[in-house]
Amino acid sequence: MKRVSLTNFPRLEFCHLPSPLEPLPRLTRHLGGPNIFIKRDDCTGLAGGGNKSRKLEYIFADVLQKDVDVVVTQGDVQSNHVRQTAAAAARFGIECHAILSRRVEDAMPNFYYEKESGNVFLDNLFGAKLHYVPGETDMDQALEAHAETLRRQGRKPYIIPGGGNTPLGAMGYVRCAHELLGQARDVDLKIDCIVHTTGGTTTQVGLLVGLFSLASQVRVHGVSSGKPKAMQEAKMKRLCADLMAFAGIDGAVPESAIVADSDFTGPGYGIPGPETIEAIELVARLEGILLDPVYTGKSMAGLISLIRRGQFKPGENIVYLHTGGTPALFAYRQSFAFVQ
Ligand SMILES: *Cc1c(COP(=O)(O)O)cnc(C)c1O
Repeated sequence: MKRVSLTNFPRLEFCHLPSPLEPLPRLTRHLGGPNIFIKRDDCTGLAGGGNKSRKLEYIFADVLQKDVDVVVTQGDVQSNHVRQTAAAAARFGIECHAILSRRVEDAMPNFYYEKESGNVFLDNLFGAKLHYVPGETDMDQALEAHAETLRRQGRKPYIIPGGGNTPLGAMGYVRCAHELLGQARDVDLKIDCIVHTTGGTTTQVGLLVGLFSLASQVRVHGVSSGKPKAMQEAKMKRLCADLMAFAGIDGAVPESAIVADSDFTGPGYGIPGPETIEAIELVARLEGILLDPVYTGKSMAGLISLIRRGQFKPGENIVYLHTGGTPALFAYRQSFAFVQ
């Protein structure tokens, strides 16, 4: 098997890496199960951090190599990806346009979330030009249409797909898998399983390919932020094959390694369930760590529930990969009982 050569892919270095790998002793003791560690990708350093920053190190290397003067991307109103992209664009002096879908608002008209707070407030602060569209909009089409409008105005747009979900973006998490195994080796830690939120699935696909390329036996348990298990697993199977080819790695990630869990998505994408809020409060109060209501609160609720049901053995070492998203907390204040 060929070992993946990460240096074949140009990358800018604007993240604060390696992100820390830390124990969560009080949460571990509280749950009385396996040893829980946290990989702090909420601390990747760019504008509040998060998993999109690692993807953007590769994507912006490509942006800067091309003759472009504006990046165009898309996401939900509270997209962490749009926030991190707007910050990277500001940093490299490139204009950023974003198409924002009102899908959470439209799906739950009575659900209270403030659309001028959290991530979208920061998008404005970074000077991004925002275009709101209804929830049912075909976002890829809207992205292409907006880029075409810009081209007709003589601009040179670069399209960054929603979530930074491209093979280049996924390389950020191939690299993260290498980084994490290196950190574990340095402290003699044998990781049994990584648990994290899976959305567009690029993070998980990158991790799976990165672990495979090192012949690692570490399992990955992806907790879905909205889409059903079967859909997520089928998508990852396809994207793993694409990424293996893109990265020039022989072989195939075994199907049994591709695991998505949609038991903790609650009422739907962008809508926290009671167990999401409980998980956020528990980790805040036991460890002083912020989670978010859209992504990490759901995977932490999953981890807590799996431990309570005895799915992990005492003595096993679990790494919770924190993918960021905490600015969204401020848009969802009304979801917490102490605010209402
Ligand atoms: C985007 C995002 C995810 C999902 O990442 P994917 O690579 O799209 O699966 C998870 N957590 C947070 C906080 C995010 O912003």
